[in-house]
Amino acid sequence: MKRAAAKRYVYADNAATTAVAPQVLQAMLPYLTERFGNPSSLYASGREAKAAVETARSQAAALLGAQPEEIFFTSGGSEADTWAIRAAAALQAKQGKRHIITSRFEHHAVLHTVEQLQREGFEVTLLNVPADGIVRVKELEATLREDTALVTLLYANNEIGTIQPVSEIGRLCRERGILFHTDAVQAAGHIPVDVVVSRIDLLSLSGHKFHAPKGVGALYCRRGISLPRLIEGGAQEQGRRAGTENVPGIVGLGEAAALAQEGMEARMRYVAALRDRLIDGILKIERAHLNGDRRHRLPGNASFCFEGVDGESLLHLLDLHGICASTGSACASGSTEPSHVLLAIGLPQEVANGSLRLTLDENNTVEEVDYILKQLPPLVERLRALSPLWERIQKQGEASNGKG
Ligand SMILES: *Cc1c(COP(=O)(O)O)cnc(C)c1O
Repeated sequence: MKRAAAKRYVYADNAATTAVAPQVLQAMLPYLTERFGNPSSLYASGREAKAAVETARSQAAALLGAQPEEIFFTSGGSEADTWAIRAAAALQAKQGKRHIITSRFEHHAVLHTVEQLQREGFEVTLLNVPADGIVRVKELEATLREDTALVTLLYANNEIGTIQPVSEIGRLCRERGILFHTDAVQAAGHIPVDVVVSRIDLLSLSGHKFHAPKGVGALYCRRGISLPRLIEGGAQEQGRRAGTENVPGIVGLGEAAALAQEGMEARMRYVAALRDRLIDGILKIERAHLNGDRRHRLPGNASFCFEGVDGESLLHLLDLHGICASTGSACASGSTEPSHVLLAIGLPQEVANGSLRLTLDENNTVEEVDYILKQLPPLVERLRALSPLWERIQKQGEASNGKG
C-alpha cells in the first residue's frame, strides 16, 4: 500500500506579507520587555528607546542611500503612500500646479488617494500600461505639462512583479521640477534601491514585506522638501507625525533593513533561480501565460493566468494541498472583480479571472517549488474538466487549427 504523503505546507505568498525574521524578532524583544521606555522620556530606558529608534532610522536610510533625517516612520506602506501624495499635492498647489500623473496599475493606496485629490480639484492623468507591465517613459513624457505637480509610479508592481524604469522617470521629473514619488513597497529590501541615483523625491516602504512586522513602514522625503504634518500632537518624527513611536516595530524595520542589505545579491540570485524553475515548470501547462515581462521582474514574483480556470477555485484547491498563494493583490481577494492590474495590462476579463500569483523568498526551497509543480497541473486540469469556458476555448482552438 502506498503511504499517504506527509501533509506539506508551502508559503508562496510573500508579496502579501513575509515571516518576521528570527533576528528581527530578537532585536525587537527587549523593546517589548525591559526596555519599554518612551523615547521622549529623559531617564535611561527612554534614552535607550530613543537611541534604538535613531539606529533604525539610520538602517532604513542606508537601505535606500538616504540620510537618516530623510526617513519618517509610519504605520505602513498605505500611510506612507497617502502622506507622500497628499504632501506633494499640497506643496505644489501653492505654486498653482494641480496636475498629477500616475498609472492604471498602482496599489489602491495610491489610486484611491489620487482619485480623492481629483474630487478635490486636481487633474489626473492615468498612464496606460503595455502588456509587458512596464510603463513607457516616452508616454509619460508626452503627458507632462507646465502645471504637472507630481508623478507617482510604483517601483515594482505587487501583482505581476514588473520593475519600472524608475531612474529614467526620476531624471525626467527632476529636470522639469516635478515631484516624483514611488511606491517601493515591493522593491525595498528585495532589489537595490537608491534614492540619489534614481532622483526620487518621495518613497514609500513597508516593514512586513521584507521580514519586519506588520504595522510599521517609512516615508523617505528628500531633504529640502518641507513635508507637511500628518498627525497633530507631540514633536515626534521632526514634528511631522505626532504620537509615541512604535519602538519595537521601528527597531524591527531597522534590523530587517540591515539584514536585507547584507547579501542582497546572493539572495536575489537564489530566489530568482527558484522563480525561474517555477515559471519554466508552470508554462508547460497548456494555455498558461506568464503575466508581465519575463526579465524585468522581481526575483520572487511568478504571476500567471490559466485560460478556462477560475482563480479563486484554484486557490482553494491549492490551500487543501497546503500551498498558500494568491490570485493577485490581497486587497482584491473576496471581491469577484478581476484584478485592475491584469485588466490594465490588457487581459480580457475571462483570462484575468484565471490568475495565480506565487511569490517566493529566501525561505523557500527547490523541494517546495517541485511540490507546487507536482500539485498544480492536475488541479488546473480538474477545474478545466468542469468548465464550460474551457470547453468553448478548446472548440475555438480546434476550429482555428482546422483553418490552418
Ligand atoms: C503591501 C503594499 C502596500 C501597502 O502596505 P501596508 O504596509 O500593508 O499598508 C502598498 N503598496 C504596495 C505595492 C504593496 O505591495
